[in-house]
Amino acid sequence: MHQFDDTIIIPGLNTQLGLMFSEDQTATPAKAGTYFSAPYVDLSDYDHIVLCMSGGKDSIACLLNLIDMGVDLNRVELWHHDVDGREGSSLMDWPFMAEYNRKLAAAFGLPIYFSWLDGGFEGEMLKENSYSRPHHIETPDGLTTLERDTNRAKPGTRLKFPQVSANLQTRWCSSALKIDLGRRALTNQQRFDGKRVLFITGERRTESPNRALYQQLEPHFCDRRGGRKARHVDSWRPVLHWPEDQVWDALERHNVIAPVPYRLGWGRSSCMKCIFNDATVWATLRHHFPGSLDAISDYETRFGTTINRNRINILDVSRQAKPMEIEDRDAFMQAMKTDYSLPIILTEGRWVLPAGAFTKTGCGPS
Ligand code: SF4
Repeated sequence: MHQFDDTIIIPGLNTQLGLMFSEDQTATPAKAGTYFSAPYVDLSDYDHIVLCMSGGKDSIACLLNLIDMGVDLNRVELWHHDVDGREGSSLMDWPFMAEYNRKLAAAFGLPIYFSWLDGGFEGEMLKENSYSRPHHIETPDGLTTLERDTNRAKPGTRLKFPQVSANLQTRWCSSALKIDLGRRALTNQQRFDGKRVLFITGERRTESPNRALYQQLEPHFCDRRGGRKARHVDSWRPVLHWPEDQVWDALERHNVIAPVPYRLGWGRSSCMKCIFNDATVWATLRHHFPGSLDAISDYETRFGTTINRNRINILDVSRQAKPMEIEDRDAFMQAMKTDYSLPIILTEGRWVLPAGAFTKTGCGPS
């Protein structure tokens, strides 16, 4: 009850009184509508609830949390960003990820809208004295292609991998392939004008020191509540304060089978060849999925730079650790397929905690 007062009643009063304080109530003025801790929001306040669904456990936990809160599912839609785009590249992501997300959405009776940067990660990485390519965004009215404004943008060159960093210019994959897409999808759909939108993402504080400092509720970058379009967009991170066991508990209670990467032993579901992968994951990829590192290795040779921040080439990194044993044969057989044929929801048998649960194997976001 105290928590309810602290996070719903008092912030509501503060808004009305024009007083905004950070969570510790130490009279530090915070941006209006910003809360370090806001585990509950009044979902009925929003016309649209947009949930960024990566297909990993934390974004699934966000969905299950909404259901536990009694959300009206008619207001909920899932958004998934295809990291490799749809123009033929398969450099980075798990082949099944798009289909997994499509089937996950279907299992909950929810619409899912995909979006991607033309050419995906690989296309952006190969930019050479040229403009970034268009964004493609699925909407309820069909597919929209958003071209770049070549009057304002300047041509640029990458020809190198993004690097592990909290700086999004260095870790450009997160911004170019996910954050920018989400922003443009919000600002280029009239259906959000004059509406209240809750934009949900699944970060958790225990993932990294940087995320530990995130606000739990704040106006989204695309919020224009006082502007001509009167678009009210709140960014909410409902599982920000959750420890990992709470996430797995939610999946178990709702009978959601752990996604494939965790079943293989990964501690995190991200791109298959994520820049954050540690030596164990690279070793596992090289050992169990022969040839899967070749394209990255070839690009390292071509660029004269490595995907690894310590300037060790990917094949040498993969020799620094022992590969994981993969015991889940169903997950292993699924891993390199584009179609997703495993069940999403458990209908019989016992729910199983995956091999990757509570391990740090893989990577950590900054
Ligand atoms: S999952 Fe890793 S490689 Fe993929 S976009 Fe995110 S940081 Fe980049």
